[in-house]
Amino acid sequence: KKITIAIDGFSSTGKSTLAKQLAKKLEYVYVDTGAMYRAVAFFAMQHNLIGTDFFDKESLVDALPIIQLEFKFNAELGFAEMYLNGENVEKQIRTIEVSNFVSRVAAVSEVRSKLVEQQQEMGKNKGIVMDGRDIGTVVFPDAELKIFMTASAETRAQRRFDELQAKGDNVTYEEVLKNVVERDNLDTSREDSPLVIADDAIEIDNSYLNKEEQFDAVLELVND
Ligand code: C5P
Repeated sequence: KKITIAIDGFSSTGKSTLAKQLAKKLEYVYVDTGAMYRAVAFFAMQHNLIGTDFFDKESLVDALPIIQLEFKFNAELGFAEMYLNGENVEKQIRTIEVSNFVSRVAAVSEVRSKLVEQQQEMGKNKGIVMDGRDIGTVVFPDAELKIFMTASAETRAQRRFDELQAKGDNVTYEEVLKNVVERDNLDTSREDSPLVIADDAIEIDNSYLNKEEQFDAVLELVND
């Protein structure tokens, strides 16, 4: 029987790696909700609505009806890529600049309600793995399996730093650590749907687990 799997947790805890592995193994659909918030943040950047010291929330909210988000499956990569108004933005949304702004954009209630609605629509049919911050609490409070992933900020920053470096992004470890800690703070302190662990979620601290160990542990939970 197919179920809904909600994977929440702090940034760079390996949520998407785990979610992708599960989706592949179980032949489920994988939805990366962070990509959607990132795409909206990228839109705001493109239109000069957000910067280090300004954020024109009102104009972003006004523009929401014309922000069209879509996932398109890329068979070569084996997962879906994010499209913003018809354009593939998968690369653009993974930069440190977008990471620096996304949590401020994700704190806007109107942004959240638009994306949550779309996510609920995508997950109407069982057989879905969705990762984010509020999947088990807000998007699918009735999900059959909820995982909450944690790891120390340093572990997470090191992982993200290695990823960005491999992509040729010119960042320092300190910059990445600062971003990870800032996003944690913004995500846990925002008024609308703050990052909290659902009562019925299973917490996994993967500071000391490798990808295989973690995957096996979660697969066992699915089969229970
Ligand atoms: O998962 P990822 O790190 O790509 O998410 C980027 C940001 O989007 C998070 O730091 C958070 O601010 C926001 N987000 C959210 N709710 C979700 C998914 C992501 O607020 N369900």
